[in-house]
Amino acid sequence: MNERKPVTREIRITGLVQGVGFRPFVYRMALEHGVCGYVKNTNSCVLIRASAFPDELDMFTESLRLQAPPVAVIENIQWKDIPGEIFRDFRIASSDDLSEEVTRVSPDIAVCDKCLADMKSQPARIAYPFLNCTHCGPRFTIVKSLPYDRPRTTMNVFSMCSSCRKEYEDITDRRFHAQPVACWDCGPVCSLIVPGKTLTAIQEILETACRIIDGGGVLAVKGMGGFHLACNALDQQSVLRLRNMKMREAKPFAVMFRDLPALREYLEVTPEEEEALTSWRRPIVIMKTRKELAGPVSNGFHTTGAMLPYMPLHYLLFEKLKTPVIVLTSGNLSDEPILTVNEDARRIMGPLTDGVLDYNREIHNRTDDSVVMAVRGKTRIIRRSRGYVPNPIVTRWNTEGIFAAGAELVNCFAVGKGRSAIMSQYIGDLKNAPTYDFYRESVERFCSLFRMKPALAVCDMHPDYLSTGYAQELGVPVTDVQHHHAHMASVMAEHGLAGPCLGICFDGTGYGTDGQIWGGEFLLGDLTGFERKARFRYVPVPGGDAATREPWRMALSYLLDTFGEEVRELPLSWIGEIPSQRLDLIIHAWQGRVNAPMSCSAGRLFDAVSALLGICLYSGFHAEAPMRLENAAGKAEGPTYPWQDGEEIDFRDMVREMVSDLAEGVTVGRIASRFHYTLIRMSVDVTEKILAGTGPLPVLLSGGSFQNRLLLEGVETELERKKIKVYSNLRVPVNDGGIALGQMVIAAARKEAGML
Ligand code: ZN
Ligand code: ZN
Ligand code: FE
Repeated sequence: MNERKPVTREIRITGLVQGVGFRPFVYRMALEHGVCGYVKNTNSCVLIRASAFPDELDMFTESLRLQAPPVAVIENIQWKDIPGEIFRDFRIASSDDLSEEVTRVSPDIAVCDKCLADMKSQPARIAYPFLNCTHCGPRFTIVKSLPYDRPRTTMNVFSMCSSCRKEYEDITDRRFHAQPVACWDCGPVCSLIVPGKTLTAIQEILETACRIIDGGGVLAVKGMGGFHLACNALDQQSVLRLRNMKMREAKPFAVMFRDLPALREYLEVTPEEEEALTSWRRPIVIMKTRKELAGPVSNGFHTTGAMLPYMPLHYLLFEKLKTPVIVLTSGNLSDEPILTVNEDARRIMGPLTDGVLDYNREIHNRTDDSVVMAVRGKTRIIRRSRGYVPNPIVTRWNTEGIFAAGAELVNCFAVGKGRSAIMSQYIGDLKNAPTYDFYRESVERFCSLFRMKPALAVCDMHPDYLSTGYAQELGVPVTDVQHHHAHMASVMAEHGLAGPCLGICFDGTGYGTDGQIWGGEFLLGDLTGFERKARFRYVPVPGGDAATREPWRMALSYLLDTFGEEVRELPLSWIGEIPSQRLDLIIHAWQGRVNAPMSCSAGRLFDAVSALLGICLYSGFHAEAPMRLENAAGKAEGPTYPWQDGEEIDFRDMVREMVSDLAEGVTVGRIASRFHYTLIRMSVDVTEKILAGTGPLPVLLSGGSFQNRLLLEGVETELERKKIKVYSNLRVPVNDGGIALGQMVIAAARKEAGML
């Protein structure tokens, strides 16, 4: 007979297991299975020492995997039996700070249903806007350093009252070890600053705030990761006023609906979209509009970016608001980072708005609302920030010590730990000075938060990117990566692809190895290098960067390339709208190649067609012309326009036919629809020709142009129909927000290959 003897086992759990109520969960499981010992957070993992009979330990370990809290992500459980001490009880031991490795910090989590119920029933938390529990509340936005414990968050200035402390210390309580635990007696509070006075009583605050919004006013409201500007999304005048406040920003505004039924009345919601909307990450989801909100909200687009409430304060406001939907756009001035500091918001937003609703818990890490869209049943991320950051992207390469600087326009950087890339929150356009400050500050914070000392930096090949300059100033070896190689590598990283692939990179702008502007590329390669198999025909970009703000310049460039001097005689009404002096100037610059760099970018082709059709001659925000072209097309439908392919893909025949279609009165929508279809067919044809020479390879779709739903849907569907394996970005953006991931794995692969 085997004698049953208790043993002690050491269990190490890695993944997203801190700040998600994991230790209390382990405690409860230990009690359930009669296991003694302790659990604690270390910098590298959750560490458990557990004594029990072996079969009980097996069941205990299994239950940790199967019953983990909703937000936790377990990557690995390792265990070994250790000799020595047999424990007699179970406890949660204090965190220690031994390892130089890092562990995870959770993204911010939307308020849970149980807390919402407490907000109506618990005396110390009736209408309390900052209640939270072990499974919900702020995390990344308040954390200053690891391990994640209250003294290392911006909650450190609030000392727990005796009843909060009791909950915090009671293992059976929902708030056991909830670091931001708070109530009316001890936690953060709101204030509302309106002309002449500051309100501090919650009911008065809520009533006044709702009166402002329902009455047509604009309110600044402090959110989880920064300030928002809010107004009634059904009131034309207030939305216009808000637009003017934001310097006539032309971008569609995001909205927040009271609840899902209200949202369904205005938007069409697929099951994937519903799942994203109601997930604890609570992103903005871009969906098809069914019933119009106030016109200026979407500014002509047939889609709306909407989200559901995620802070207790949002729920409290909607209880009193008459309108079921409010605009909730980032509280910033044009391209600057969103405001996070109360004093700044009061000073800057105070005079512009009808009130500033803030609270006295500090935001340490700024995060914007994240944005996703569902295409072909899969959720794709467009802006990765609140609710996602700092969840790492696990790769198959050793990324330790690598700093990836990212691109420039839609910047996001990454730091490498172990085999993961920890992507930063959305930073923005680095050419904007305060945004560049935000970049530098965030890089330093990530390095200290995740205890990462850069040993190798990787950046874009563009010599003038500020991120490139930053990488070069770090004082560590630097390797540079071609922009579109990084785009395709970001897809490889996400899907764990290491071998040769064919990357279709349709993008706005990227510096090429020939010094020209790339962006319409078919690249064959792996992480260590690539060969350019085909590209769009180069055309001059008159005025360089100015052409992205004035897409008509690209239309003119394509017309000059197609028709030569006769452009002035073409039957295009918009040509007459351009002052003739400016037209002369641009034609002259084009012919003389003066300040007209050559580009083969797909983004510029979309700009050109959008302007050619008279849809968007001047662009009010990044990628407006392509977005309006897609909006006008509605669908991609044949027949195709003609093109020539080979190493150079030439669209001059298409441009010629588009002009005659316009002259014959074919609708702009129809031409736009055929244009999309043409790009889809061309992509499939060129891919097949390349693969005929190489044999079957995975095909990767990346680059900002694939944010175009019609293009992504069409190319994916058609390639799959040809039994070609096709991959695109899911967890990082296809736009330049995903570049840092590609840079990181290229640097890691070059290092592994001994190239660095
Ligand atoms: Zn909760
Ligand atoms: Zn309290
Ligand atoms: Fe790009």
